[in-house]
Amino acid sequence: MSRPRKAEDPIRWPVPCNRCGQHHQTVARWPDGGLCGYCYQQAKRTRGICACGHEGVLPGIIEEQPTCRRCSGVRLNVDCVGCGDEDELYSGGRCWTCVLGDVVDDLLTNQATGSMADDLIPLAAALKSMKRANSGLTWIQQKHVTAFLRNLAVAPHISHETFDELPASRTREYVRGLLTEHGVLPQRDELRMRYDSWAAEAIERVKDPQHLT
Ligand SMILES: [Zn+2]
Ligand SMILES: [Zn+2]
Ligand SMILES: [Zn+2]
Repeated sequence: MSRPRKAEDPIRWPVPCNRCGQHHQTVARWPDGGLCGYCYQQAKRTRGICACGHEGVLPGIIEEQPTCRRCSGVRLNVDCVGCGDEDELYSGGRCWTCVLGDVVDDLLTNQATGSMADDLIPLAAALKSMKRANSGLTWIQQKHVTAFLRNLAVAPHISHETFDELPASRTREYVRGLLTEHGVLPQRDELRMRYDSWAAEAIERVKDPQHLT
């Protein structure tokens, strides 16, 4: 999710960024120097294992190597209040993964009963563990995905037929695939199903008196 860079402006920002050398507004002053917004964003998202052995966010730079806060003296809040992990914080002091988890729980909970159907628990777990939580959040917050998951949350039971009755979409097949993968739904030959429904419709068309003339 890197934003396209604006053109640099040496007149407005005469002192270049210490990391990229370009003339942008300085948004932070760290022990290694002033940083532009782009480098600051990138630093927050740099993860790995520091030379000291610490694993987590490595915002600092020492001898061109990404370095943890403790070694570099960089002061940056990357402590998630939800899971306690070091990560880029998204909102309310929570990391992307925690926020995604909250959204998934909210969408898959039947608001009338206040609980989640047992069948949907593996789906919730799968959605929460998406590797790129920020892309996952962008995906799940699209109107059609939100609406689909809310519908599923109130479905009386989860079966292939439940899915067949919901409007056809890529979201529907993606979620069906996840539930099949987690053993909530049995494997089904989708090609065969599509053929059968096509064949049934074809028979209906033939039976239609308009086609008998
Ligand atoms: Zn920079
Ligand atoms: Zn370190
Ligand atoms: Zn978290």
